[in-house]
Amino acid sequence: MYKAFLLKYAEIGLKGKNRGVFENALRDQVQFNLDKLGKYHVLREQGRIFVECPEEYDYEETVEALKKVFGVWGICPVVVIESTEWEQITAGVIDYVDKFYPEKNFTFKVEAKRANKQYPMTSPEICVEMGSCLLEHFEGLKVDVHEPQVRINVEVRNKTYVYSHIIPGPGGMPVGTGGKAMLLLSGGIDSPVAGYMIAKRGVTIEATYFHAPPYTSERAKQKVVDLAKIISAYTGPIKLHVVNFTDIQLYIYEKCPHEELTIIMRRYMMKIAEHFAEKHKCLGMITGESIGQVASQTMYSLAATNAVCKMPVYRPLIGFDKQEIVEISQKIKTFETSIEPYEDCCTIFVAKHPVTRPILSVIEKSEENLAEKIDELIKTAIDTVEVIEIG
Ligand code: ATP
Ligand code: MG
Repeated sequence: MYKAFLLKYAEIGLKGKNRGVFENALRDQVQFNLDKLGKYHVLREQGRIFVECPEEYDYEETVEALKKVFGVWGICPVVVIESTEWEQITAGVIDYVDKFYPEKNFTFKVEAKRANKQYPMTSPEICVEMGSCLLEHFEGLKVDVHEPQVRINVEVRNKTYVYSHIIPGPGGMPVGTGGKAMLLLSGGIDSPVAGYMIAKRGVTIEATYFHAPPYTSERAKQKVVDLAKIISAYTGPIKLHVVNFTDIQLYIYEKCPHEELTIIMRRYMMKIAEHFAEKHKCLGMITGESIGQVASQTMYSLAATNAVCKMPVYRPLIGFDKQEIVEISQKIKTFETSIEPYEDCCTIFVAKHPVTRPILSVIEKSEENLAEKIDELIKTAIDTVEVIEIG
């Protein structure tokens, strides 16, 4: 039935002079997501994006793909009437209402647009004429111009487009319009959600994962690859840096007070991730931290971790409760993968009683114990990084 989709966007409309840049990015992202499914034409026209489906296509699959494009506020499946003749248009709209609304007892309003200003009727005339035509044809229908139950949109271009359903899109800004950031991606629940949230604001994502073989398994790494794959459906391709962290972790374990392990480890993770972030021209880093969730995420711990970074660190979940994060992870379908029971490199070396109020000067003092070998170990970790292209 539907031969096209009209995509509505919200915030892009506010962009003034840069609007064209945002619209092009949105068009490109839509085309990118749909190219995986088949042949579609994506056109940018007069403040909207049109998707034409010239061939047989899977409706559900297409809507799912469009629901993953940031910047899309609403997805309207459109029926195309291959004519601009009034008789054909009214016949087409009557047919549309007949097919899509089996119960004909609702209030409605016709909204009209015409791209071609030479068209013999004005938009208000189209609304009035089409409204009375529908009232005549279907007894149970009533007009309500203020709060109609159904808005029937009729757009006359070189053909005529009819739609009345709006499927909610994800909102946000098209990826690629907001610079690039490095996500510290673990196998947990939080970091994939954090990456999703920043990408939703138009930011391109790269990722770094620290593993500690043989303490963490190949399967734990695969879980992170799987998570990156799931979020890449929204964010576009992700370059995942897999860093072998074992020797650094063992060295910290050997040389530093055990209650400080997690904080010191987190500081080295940030430092190494920042190296890759700088190398790849990222403007910031992203973590899944949330105040007070665990000992390493108290305000004191966050301050101590943050002190090693020169770049801004974005923590989109900072004020979220775990349950709120879980809800987003369920919505974006990372939850089931995140709760697979594979070990995380942080959980293996954790102390029974980690510090919850680390003092930066004390932590820095402990790190002096690492002076002999740490630079060499960091260099090796960086030199042996494995880069996996995802999506
Ligand atoms: P998550 O659910 O994202 O794993 P978490 O609640 O387990 O988070 P922590 O283990 O304290 O929290 O990690 C805090 C943040 O540090 C994570 O959200 C993630 O951004 C980063 N991080 C933790 N472990 C790793 C890792 N092995 N590799 C990359 N980043 C990590
Ligand atoms: Mg974790």
